[in-house]
Amino acid sequence: MSRGLGDVYKRQAAGREKILDTLGRNGFEAYIVGGCVRDSLLGSKPNDWDITTNALPEQIAACFPEHTLVLNGIRHGTVGIVEDGVLFEATTYRVDGTYSDNRRPDSVAFTPRLEEDLCRRDFTVNAMAYNERDGLIDCFGGRSDLNKRLIRCVGEPEKRFEEDALRILRALRFASKLDFAIEKKTANAVLKEKDRLLNIANERIAKELLSLLCGQGAGRVLREFPQVFFVFLPELAPMLHFDQNTPYHNLPLWEHTAKSVESIAPQRDLRLVMLLHDIGKPLCKTTDGQGVSHYRGHPQKSAEMAQGILTRLRLPTSLAEEAVQLVLYHDYRCEPSARAVRRLLSRVGEQAAKKLVQVRMADADAQSSYRREEKLRLIADYESMLSEVLARGDCFSLKDLELNGKDLLTAGYPAGKEMGRVLAMLLGEVIDGRLENKKALLLARAKELYVDIV
Ligand code: ATP
Ligand code: MG
Repeated sequence: MSRGLGDVYKRQAAGREKILDTLGRNGFEAYIVGGCVRDSLLGSKPNDWDITTNALPEQIAACFPEHTLVLNGIRHGTVGIVEDGVLFEATTYRVDGTYSDNRRPDSVAFTPRLEEDLCRRDFTVNAMAYNERDGLIDCFGGRSDLNKRLIRCVGEPEKRFEEDALRILRALRFASKLDFAIEKKTANAVLKEKDRLLNIANERIAKELLSLLCGQGAGRVLREFPQVFFVFLPELAPMLHFDQNTPYHNLPLWEHTAKSVESIAPQRDLRLVMLLHDIGKPLCKTTDGQGVSHYRGHPQKSAEMAQGILTRLRLPTSLAEEAVQLVLYHDYRCEPSARAVRRLLSRVGEQAAKKLVQVRMADADAQSSYRREEKLRLIADYESMLSEVLARGDCFSLKDLELNGKDLLTAGYPAGKEMGRVLAMLLGEVIDGRLENKKALLLARAKELYVDIV
């Protein structure tokens, strides 16, 4: 029987207590720490449970002789313990060594003092520890900052960002995720030290960026800290203060972008698409005799630029491809006829065709009220036609065609390029509604096409 999410949560809580208890019975200190303490205090469900302890890695491992252990992080002091199918990560109290490259500590050293371990953590709200016996250990005012909804560095912000520049983006990420403000001194240091993000590997940037974009405060963070994004996405900089100069828009391009990001569901692909959908606009601007600007070809330009950015950020290929395709089609006004919808489906597939409804709605949400009713009607008509076509099971791809290569081989046609062409032509006619998707009819039509081709 499958267990629901609620059960998983309970299992996690029970597992956590068991691990803290086991370490305690063996004479060690042990606390849950970081994100899981923060989220528990906020009343939300933690992503993962990190445990911090004065036990050394080998001692941690020795406390769990019956458990499956994950030891690949042991060099950094982390032992993964699998308890009832859930992974818990227990890490020895650590002080990070010196940072010579703004990235990773040159070395990590263990310490017997919890406070030193908390001191190395990035923000006050992430630097609290808890166990049943001692209650909350909060050396830096994390709980008060949680109440004030503030992201504040532990220690001197500039120094902390110099040590590890990724923290600059993490500050924005937590501000977005938790919908918190960034405390003044920390915010000033974010702006002052932002260029250090250039020293950070693109994969690490990408991970924080995606998480930031999916936060509830993403639009606000984009508006408040545009310059930080432009450090690693310089292609976006021309959008700031860019007057769109058309009745369709009432917001400058960057504001429009931020609004469209917050208007769409918090999924990585969709949020990324909205961030990038108009990046090509500044390069495509023309102004007509009436002084109104146009942006012909901007979806293509944006898609081309998005491709470059997403490759550079080393995003998973499937995510990048999907995002680029949606950027390319974001402004495509599909005629709400079954034929046009089938054509679009044959080009982009079912998932993207569905997501286009959300993309176009979010784009419209961030535009002016000029001809708004008309735009919304077009989107609604497209959506209902799409549902109709999908519900009916209309054929829009070769795999749905009632005739395949094997059938043509059986009918005596040779394998090869021609066969591919004939199948593609049959599909085109079916999509256009000129031919029914019935085997006998398709075969008869194939015969005619072969005559035409040869
Ligand atoms: P999430 O719920 O999104 O996973 P989290 O707080 O658990 O949030 P992680 O990135 O998983 O965030 O990091 C776990 C903890 O490790 C943080 O709460 C913080 O205490 C510490 N930490 C992580 N990265 C850094 C860093 N670059 N500098 C200092 N401390 C860090
Ligand atoms: Mg975490």
